[in-house]
Amino acid sequence: MELIIDCGDYSLKNSLTPSFISSLYESIRPDAWIKVAGRLGGKLKIEQRGRRLIITSTAEISRDELERLALFESGLWREEFESGISKFPPSFRDAVEALAKTYPGVRIPIAPWDFDYILVAVLLSKRANYEMVRRWCRKLWKAFGDNLHNLSSAGSSILRRITRSYQLEDAARSLRDLMRLMKEPRRIHSEIIRRFGAPREPLSEYLLSLPPEIARIILLSAWGIGPKVADSTILSTFKAPHFIPCDVHLRIFVERLSLVEDFKMPEKALCRRFLCGDEGAWGLAPCSSRRCLRAILRPLGDLGGWIQTLIYLHGKEYCRSVKPRCGECPLRRLCSSSSRAP
Ligand code: SF4
Ligand code: SF4
Repeated sequence: MELIIDCGDYSLKNSLTPSFISSLYESIRPDAWIKVAGRLGGKLKIEQRGRRLIITSTAEISRDELERLALFESGLWREEFESGISKFPPSFRDAVEALAKTYPGVRIPIAPWDFDYILVAVLLSKRANYEMVRRWCRKLWKAFGDNLHNLSSAGSSILRRITRSYQLEDAARSLRDLMRLMKEPRRIHSEIIRRFGAPREPLSEYLLSLPPEIARIILLSAWGIGPKVADSTILSTFKAPHFIPCDVHLRIFVERLSLVEDFKMPEKALCRRFLCGDEGAWGLAPCSSRRCLRAILRPLGDLGGWIQTLIYLHGKEYCRSVKPRCGECPLRRLCSSSSRAP
């Protein structure tokens, strides 16, 4: 079956490359990707030709279902973000306008049906290069297929055949601890258990049935899952573009461009006890950490995850933590750090 979607100024390359959804795909060209794992793995190709997205699938699936999956996984489920830039204060607007011009057509792909895969890819990405993560993922998907619960119980010798890097053992430990929450719900905020019930099998379905803010707190109740892992997982599996994973690229960028003064990174101990918002809800009190970067950036609203993605792309291309390429950077006229760079 073939579907053609008019995608306007959208860019498949700029949307899929920085997304954790790409851990489920192989790129045969920057504008053509084949899904190799997860739902329709081996049976789906997405290709961009100009302003058209061509979806080809050999799966027995209805047209409507295929279109829904393609819209979600390409990021086209939501209209473009660029039209919201004008709402920001000038200090922020100039930087975002320049980023949007440099990395056009970015949307936020999501794959709720592949929650387990995405969580594993995000866990592996802690202090690891994403290209390396994609290589590990390809081996993992081959070894464990769609039974990622087996990954949590796999012995060290099996995991070492994939990689000797500590990230994989840590990811398996986090998954084990997450599943343990089903037997130990007392480790989760009691108000969540009272209102939404204890976690149950299949865990991904339970989490996806919750408001993303609540799913975030539950994820954060497990060992090795911090704010960045929880936020990246939710940004890639829920319709929650307001989620902002505060990673090293974001921290460095706002510091170098002096966009935010005197901030702190999110703290797991607070994130798992309080609601990340200005007001409480569901019986949970709001977090009072006013200098937290995520709290400061919350007014970006639905543009938050998109802006973080643009900054991630810029961090990979120019604004590297070591040896930033200031001389060629399209944002250098906005950036006070460019003159201090070597
Ligand atoms: S404001 Fe509080 S809950 Fe929100 S990310 Fe920061 S530390 Fe976590
Ligand atoms: S000029 Fe240099 S420090 Fe500033 S945004 Fe560009 S790469 Fe980063």
